[in-house]
Amino acid sequence: MKTTTAIDVMNKDDLIVIAGAGGFIAGALARYFHDKGFTRIRAIDRKPVPQWYQRVPGVESISMDLSVQENAVKAVEGAVEVYNLAADMGGMGFIENNRVDCLRSILINTHMIEAAYRAGTARFFFSSSACAYNTTLQQDPNVRALKETDAYPAMAERGYGWEKLVSEMFCQEYTAERGLETHIARFHNVFGPNGTWFGGREKAPAALCRKAVEAIDSGKYEIDIWGDGHQTRSFMYISDCVYGIDRIMHNDDLIATPINLGTSELVSINQLVDYIEEIANIKMNRTYMLDAPRGVAGRNSDNTFIKEVLGWEPSTPLKEGLKSTYAWIKEQYYDRKAGKAVVRD
Ligand code: NAD
Repeated sequence: MKTTTAIDVMNKDDLIVIAGAGGFIAGALARYFHDKGFTRIRAIDRKPVPQWYQRVPGVESISMDLSVQENAVKAVEGAVEVYNLAADMGGMGFIENNRVDCLRSILINTHMIEAAYRAGTARFFFSSSACAYNTTLQQDPNVRALKETDAYPAMAERGYGWEKLVSEMFCQEYTAERGLETHIARFHNVFGPNGTWFGGREKAPAALCRKAVEAIDSGKYEIDIWGDGHQTRSFMYISDCVYGIDRIMHNDDLIATPINLGTSELVSINQLVDYIEEIANIKMNRTYMLDAPRGVAGRNSDNTFIKEVLGWEPSTPLKEGLKSTYAWIKEQYYDRKAGKAVVRD
């Protein structure tokens, strides 16, 4: 099977535009392409540049709100490839309580895709989400893994999931009607160093790692867990995510074709806490917060299609990814305590 990535089809000085690059995944993507030797990367985020999670030397970094049409036009000027990962999002606590903000990310997507089309961009990538899947299929922790066809009939997660589903449709119709080459990945939970770890937008792996560090620091070995701990998920390590984006963007069988990008290693939140306790070498008393946002009961990625089309799937074991994530969060925690600058919203 042919393994095509950006270096096989692009010149090193072709302009790559990455939206949302002040955040977790797009920041890692900017670093990935920079490390592959691409010399013209334009990274954009609405956050002021000093607040970006990662600053990659040599990457043009611009602070701009991409939900404003004229900014989107400026952003993609001269781009050969556009990666749109900018979105107002966070973990369950954020997306359940901020549906309007999540829905408003549609403005980013509509302006970015139209601007990319008008600018003659060769390829456009959109980061969709497993939240686009029909929620009625996710009501049991022993969930059947979700395959790409499970998005329809549509019953996506209110707010965030619907925004993703509609934006996917924009990509598909820009390809069908206007000939813009689009690629769409449905990310399942992504985790790793350089992501949000406190403040309200953090997701379960980062939040639970932080709580373990706090437990050790306070000497009170207690942990609050949202939900009953039985809800299940799969978690993809960041390096698998950025490599997967590159492979998906450069595969001709994946034009305007949404595809899962996630691991199929299903764990319950309780198992996730077990792993973190093992890494931190502690045991904590667990309190289950049954009224807290918990999302669907179970969600896993069916990787049949990605294996078939790419001969690859994300495979970093959860425990391995958690080790480096825990170590990074611990360092961040003590840096913050010492008054040093850390990754924050
Ligand atoms: P993130 O919040 O770390 O990054 C998103 C970035 O977009 C932020 O830095 C934010 O400031 C920026 N942004 C928001 N509105 C903007 C605007 N109007 N103009 C410019 N920038 C704007 O999130 P992430 O985890 O890196 O997610 C990246 C993408 O992947 C998002 O589209 C998200 O929906 C999708 N996704 C992520 C996960 C995950 O587990 N992290 C799962 C599924 C899908």
